[in-house]
Amino acid sequence: MTSLLDPATAHAVHTTWRSLPAGQQPAWPDSGALDAAVTALASSLPLVTPRECDLLKTRLAAVARGEAFLVQGGDCAEALDAVNAMSIGRTASTLQQLATVFGYVMSLPVVTLARMAGQYAKPRSAATETRRGVELPVYRGDAVNGHAFTAAARIPDPQRLVRVYDKSAATLNLVRAFGADEHSGPGHALEALRQFTAASPERARYESLTKEIEQAGGFTGTGDGWHTPDELFMSHEGLLLDYESALTRVEAATGRPYATSGHLLWIGERTRRLDGAHVEYFSRISNPIAVKIGPTVEEDELLRLIDRLSPGGEPGRLTLVVRMGAGTVRRVLPGLVERVMAEGRSVAWVSDPMHGNTVSAPSGHKTRRFDDVLDELTGFFEVLHGLGAHPGGVHLELTGDDVTECVGGGAGLGFADLPTRYRSVCDPRLNREQSLDLAFQLAELLDAARLPGAGESLR
Ligand code: PEP
Ligand code: MN
Repeated sequence: MTSLLDPATAHAVHTTWRSLPAGQQPAWPDSGALDAAVTALASSLPLVTPRECDLLKTRLAAVARGEAFLVQGGDCAEALDAVNAMSIGRTASTLQQLATVFGYVMSLPVVTLARMAGQYAKPRSAATETRRGVELPVYRGDAVNGHAFTAAARIPDPQRLVRVYDKSAATLNLVRAFGADEHSGPGHALEALRQFTAASPERARYESLTKEIEQAGGFTGTGDGWHTPDELFMSHEGLLLDYESALTRVEAATGRPYATSGHLLWIGERTRRLDGAHVEYFSRISNPIAVKIGPTVEEDELLRLIDRLSPGGEPGRLTLVVRMGAGTVRRVLPGLVERVMAEGRSVAWVSDPMHGNTVSAPSGHKTRRFDDVLDELTGFFEVLHGLGAHPGGVHLELTGDDVTECVGGGAGLGFADLPTRYRSVCDPRLNREQSLDLAFQLAELLDAARLPGAGESLR
């Protein structure tokens, strides 16, 4: 039998990026150890298949056409020691609860995409971190080095790439198993929403919407038969090119290369330069991909990026994840959307209302204000609706765990609460309640503004 997926190491996808500038790559001190890890990964099993990636691309094509909504979320950075069955289950079910609310509010089928099973490498703004006069290499995610502030932990260790692969494989296995579990179905999401609205007086006002969702039977869908609420795809930032390249396989039947570390990979704001290694590698894989777009992106630059990453304009191939900041999105986004529409390019527009709104708390904790996150998301909807385009989805840093990392939301977490359960090894996440507050409050704002997208029955 011929193998369906071949490492085909001579293929251009493995080589052309290597001669180009690659931002944010670790300085691995031991090149022999890196070679050993890459060799192990190159002969390991794919985590996802081309068929699944193509299915996600079909789903995202519906998002780009305005016929579906994307809910993408999960940790800023997964941590090897913190990922366990409980955390995976809670985050997956939080995503499902969000999908239930957004699906009803938008009257659209929802595509659910986790930042999970591979989100272990982080771009950083500085190469080192200094505490009390001691300077050490910065933490770059568990795929690279340890979070502890010690010289030993911070040495990049390529063996971590193999551990991350193993943990991602186990995570995917569990997610697939939970998907078939009767306790994780849409009925479970509805029950969770009911408990959420009943649990506190501030949330009583969401009760009528929850009842409507219940009466509609949870996920509305559009009756076209494709929406399955337990379909959960996996995504991460494709930052470490040695890792991604080693896990790239060529589909024998078509000759097309796929990143097999996850269904969708994205390019971050810091590594999207047109002449860089990331854009080159991503241009050659066949997965659906996304790119983060910050406030400094220029219209011409964005068009060139779209044409490099999606030259054929294949529907569902490219998602643009907008992360501008609450004070900026209404000013900068309209020109970009107008230009992309005028040039007839097909992309899905998605809002990441987290990364443009990071602030420092007096305690030194990195945090985000719930109201800023909601404001950027609202601004995104206003801009897209104003131009007759489709606000295609949300990209959130969240967890199902009861953490105290962002301030505000229905429970009124303040700066003083942050130390209580601040668990993130990188950026602050919305906890489950804050995530649901965001979905319900966006629904109220859309309704008040009479923007299309607020479910008909909200009127
Ligand atoms: C992230 O998603 O964690 C991240 C680093 O985002 P960005 O590239 O948009 O800054
Ligand atoms: Mn982040």
